[in-house]
Amino acid sequence: MGLFDWLLLLAASLASFLLGRYWAGHLTPRTRPAGNALSDIYVQGINYLLSEQPDEAIEAFDAMLASHPRNAETHLALGRLFRHRGEFERAIRVHKSLLDKQDLPPDVKYQALFELGRDYLKAGILDRAESVFREIVNQHAHDRAALHALADIYELEQDWPAAIEIRKRLAALGDAQEQAVVALLYCELAEAALSGGDLKAASQHLAEAYAMDPDSPRGTLLAGKLAMAAGRCDQALAMWEALLERSPMHFALILDEFFQCAERAGQQELKTKALYHLAGTLRAPHLVAQVARHLAAEEGGAVALDYLRHVLARRPQLQGLQAFVEIATRAQGLDPEACRTLADAVARLPAEPSRFHCTVCGFHSQAHYWKCPGCRRWDTMEAVQENNNHA
Ligand SMILES: [Zn+2]
Repeated sequence: MGLFDWLLLLAASLASFLLGRYWAGHLTPRTRPAGNALSDIYVQGINYLLSEQPDEAIEAFDAMLASHPRNAETHLALGRLFRHRGEFERAIRVHKSLLDKQDLPPDVKYQALFELGRDYLKAGILDRAESVFREIVNQHAHDRAALHALADIYELEQDWPAAIEIRKRLAALGDAQEQAVVALLYCELAEAALSGGDLKAASQHLAEAYAMDPDSPRGTLLAGKLAMAAGRCDQALAMWEALLERSPMHFALILDEFFQCAERAGQQELKTKALYHLAGTLRAPHLVAQVARHLAAEEGGAVALDYLRHVLARRPQLQGLQAFVEIATRAQGLDPEACRTLADAVARLPAEPSRFHCTVCGFHSQAHYWKCPGCRRWDTMEAVQENNNHA
């Protein structure tokens, strides 16, 4: 929403306010002078906003609220305007001044408190945001919006147990997708325990994740890693192979570990099987390049180049081209000088911007995130597919 839209919103508040005053004036003519004075302050406040004098605008609207405490819509719109413009201190000031007023109707008090919590959250003052949303949840135990805000705060702080407690409350309110999120949060705990070497704790957290979501791909990835860390490579390979069929993109996240396990378990044939399966299913440029490099190492340069020729003939893509030049240079003993020139030229082409994107908000990144940093939703990232402009 742009500044103009916000001013329209404020103007709409003004219109309804003046209309109210007009009818009030008809019913009780003696109130008209007070109404005129108030509308003057209102117009003055809007003028301050238009001339970029926000602090004067706040004072004008505060004066109006002092004499007419029930006209809180303006303050709420003003606070949102400041927050939208990134002026968090002013937004907080506006919402606090509203909350300081006596005799606020309960719904307005709730709205002002909620907006104050959002101000703190946007400003990154997480402890204050937490106490505001806790206050709301203490009064309204089933307030989904406040519970979601609290979950978001705990997840930003990586306080996984607190986030789990809140997400479970949301799941109990009937939000079915929250169960899968709780499973992902248990996976966060399992991953932390695994990287700290505490396999027992990792195993417990993983069991809790499976109890919430038996089909969790992240759970399968971690279960395999746990088995690998415990020296049970056969078990890890069996788990990951099941994921290869079900979700190749997730499988590709542990491709290197899968290869290490296959080598340790003496099951080289699994590497080839996985590579051919991925080559037949994956279209994301960075995964195509990754598969081609593994194919070159396992099956030889000619097989890898043949695979890339098919992919590139169908749709040109930079990372596949880079892998092609790299493998062709090594495999076919071409003139080194010509290869260097070609490799330099390819390296100078504009890079493909990202490997993953969020299917909800479109956030792009090089790394895979289980929780989108853009819209803060869980498990919405997918590998970016081939550039459709070349279709
Ligand atoms: Zn997103």
